[in-house]
Amino acid sequence: MPLPQPLAEHLGRLLTEKLNEPVRVRDARPVAGGSINDAYRLHTNAGDFFVKTNTADRYPSPFISEERGLAILRKAAVLRVPEVLAQGEFGGTTFLLMEFIAPEEEDRDFQARFGRGLAQLHRHTSGSFGLDHDNYIGLLPQVNTPHKDWVEFLVQCRLEPLVKMGRDNGRIHPGDVIRFERLYAKLPALFPPEMPALLHGDLWKHNYLAAATGGPVLVDPAVYYGHREMDLAMTMLFGGFDREFYAAYHAEEPLEAGWEERVDLCNLYPLLVHLNLFGGSYAERISSVLRRFV
Ligand code: ADP
Repeated sequence: MPLPQPLAEHLGRLLTEKLNEPVRVRDARPVAGGSINDAYRLHTNAGDFFVKTNTADRYPSPFISEERGLAILRKAAVLRVPEVLAQGEFGGTTFLLMEFIAPEEEDRDFQARFGRGLAQLHRHTSGSFGLDHDNYIGLLPQVNTPHKDWVEFLVQCRLEPLVKMGRDNGRIHPGDVIRFERLYAKLPALFPPEMPALLHGDLWKHNYLAAATGGPVLVDPAVYYGHREMDLAMTMLFGGFDREFYAAYHAEEPLEAGWEERVDLCNLYPLLVHLNLFGGSYAERISSVLRRFV
């Protein structure tokens, strides 16, 4: 869908205020790659900007929590995060307006830099798992009630709510609801203790960008303090990260023995997210993971 002209003009006015110079949007070209929102590259007399939009009545607040998540990652000052210029609603459309990151090829050290940077980000810790506010993953609400115990958090704030949603919308196999219950009892023995780590929370290949300076750049997070293997596992769900990435992570902050066997366990959460958002074959993938553990 093209960006409505009145919204383009409104964004021009916001940029004018923000940059303290007259800004006019010349055109808005759709950017592909996102799965949830519409995205555009804005060409203006003051350079290019990036805007994501959605319908206000369907999804009033994900951009508010996206802006907060980006701010938390930026404050950690490890990996680059685009600057947010404005967030709000105009004429029934919500938007998040930010710095445009010009797409670049990954250079030779990119993946190693990224792995090292992610390990450094994960050193940012908190007194508990969770966050001081709830947010979203994609369009699904993400509960972040603080817990001292990782497995309790994983079960009560990540798995249970989405298993219940999947049961209510009929997308999850009934037998798998029972298998999840059995799995919960086994989880404490499966996860080694870890400090809460600041996570991107939705780290797949379309949620980072290479940039000419300061890349990798993190976008579209679902931030919380969690077990760091959640971020690592998510990088493996749809591929796109190289061996150098994992080697550099491990060299910076070694992972606990057996982490590779826990990848599928961690990815039950993003698989449940995808199941509830998109349905389809995710139910089978969930089933086959559950059958391996219970
Ligand atoms: P969605 O919330 O719909 O998943 P994303 O935030 O992932 O949307 O953005 C869609 C696409 O736009 C991404 O795949 C990414 O390549 C690109 N993108 C995201 N943020 C920026 C940015 N600040 N500058 C340039 N491109 C971006």
